Amino acid sequence: MNNNPWIRAKQQLTQACEKLGLDKLLFTILSEHDKIIEVSLPIQMEDGSIKVFRGYRVQHSNIQGPYKGGLRYHPKVDMDEVKALAFWMTMKNAIVGVPFGGGKGGIALDPKSLSEVELEKLTRQFTRKLFDVIGAYKDIPAPDVNTNSKIMGWIVDEFKAQSEKLKVKYNEAELRAVVTGKPIDRGGSEGRVVATGFGGVQVLLTLLKKLGKSPKGLTVAIMGFGNVGRHIAHFLKIEGFKIVALSDSGGGIYIPDGIRDTEEINKYKEEKGFLSGCYCVGSVCDFNNKDKLGGRDIIKPEDILELPVDILVPAALENVITHENADKIKASIILELANGPTTLEGDMILNKKGVIVIPDILANSGGVATSYFEWYQNLHDEHWTEDEVLKKLKEKMEIVLQEVYEVSLEYKTTLREAAYILALKRIEKIWKKQKSS
Ligand code: NAD
Repeated sequence: MNNNPWIRAKQQLTQACEKLGLDKLLFTILSEHDKIIEVSLPIQMEDGSIKVFRGYRVQHSNIQGPYKGGLRYHPKVDMDEVKALAFWMTMKNAIVGVPFGGGKGGIALDPKSLSEVELEKLTRQFTRKLFDVIGAYKDIPAPDVNTNSKIMGWIVDEFKAQSEKLKVKYNEAELRAVVTGKPIDRGGSEGRVVATGFGGVQVLLTLLKKLGKSPKGLTVAIMGFGNVGRHIAHFLKIEGFKIVALSDSGGGIYIPDGIRDTEEINKYKEEKGFLSGCYCVGSVCDFNNKDKLGGRDIIKPEDILELPVDILVPAALENVITHENADKIKASIILELANGPTTLEGDMILNKKGVIVIPDILANSGGVATSYFEWYQNLHDEHWTEDEVLKKLKEKMEIVLQEVYEVSLEYKTTLREAAYILALKRIEKIWKKQKSS
């Protein structure tokens, strides 16, 4: 059993390459990373003490275009996690058809233990240390776990300040396009915040159509109630799915008759910082409504995975579906909105059971597709409305599911392997063209 995400990513790559007969040199290139950056980030905390944090940026491949991928702030961030996430970005960008390569980064820290002033100081120092390697045509970070538009705004500011200090010339558009997921008034795209969840719903709906199933009344459990989890809950509800369970790192709620109002839950979580006890009747959310709603507490966050639901949406962290619990999963469809939520052993068990897994690199690619829209708008000085963005995104996600589905039929394989095969075919085509020119 191995839960090291980078070892798993390499195994996924190897399997798909063998099936496809990928060029050996390209396989070797993709088994390595173009550049690995690790920096120390000493800062003075508000209480006067000095702490040193570790920051990472891994640039996997730029065959398809500038490196692109989020920045994660989490205690579990380490080099192997970032390497895997950067690799998955290369694959994801190929599948969703955006002209980006793969990158990822992060800082190992518990953001709850830092004040906003400290977090800003740290982010600015990280930006200074990455200044030479990031840029609109080099490497474009974005939000990921525990990072958001405010943090992206600090990066834009600091990048601009450094470019002035070091007299490196960038035009205004390029300065804006150094990161995506920015606040709207700093060049962010309408619809970016909801894009990953919205995109995931479009992929799911397209698959259900293929399976001849209606979304109405299908029960859903969502693990993780951050940017991705909260927005997918919203859009699933609009489409008629019945959300019965939600969880975050502290636990969650299960209401077999269906959670009526995810917006109220949103407000509660914003206010309290956790989901536990959030049983809402109207705008009143507390434990006292639990019996009235027939609710049950989810004490351990991972318990949500084993509930009797039609669809399971892991939208938190990696390695939550493993050889230990895969057999107990009752859902017939898993929509992987988190990156890497299923271990190799977990995946094998799910396949044997006939569970359809919509893999992360397909399911959550709506996020980077919209990051591409943001980057494009920045560089062309355009501003699209949310309706325009979501319309383009919906079309893209429907096509992507269709393409991966067809490859899965052609190669008689799972959607995960089909997604890799499609990605690798596209990368190989670009790579061969670059070699011959
Ligand atoms: P976030 O920080 O906004 O939210 C993460 C959520 O997961 C929080 O609600 C947290 O409480 C919860 N969580 C943490 N540990 C948990 C556990 N053990 N059980 C249940 N919940 C737990 O992060 P996010 O942006 O929503 O990202 C979630 C996942 O989606 C990550 O894997 C990320 O890489 C992936 N993803 C995000 C985007 C994006 O646009 N933000 C795009 C593609 C993929």
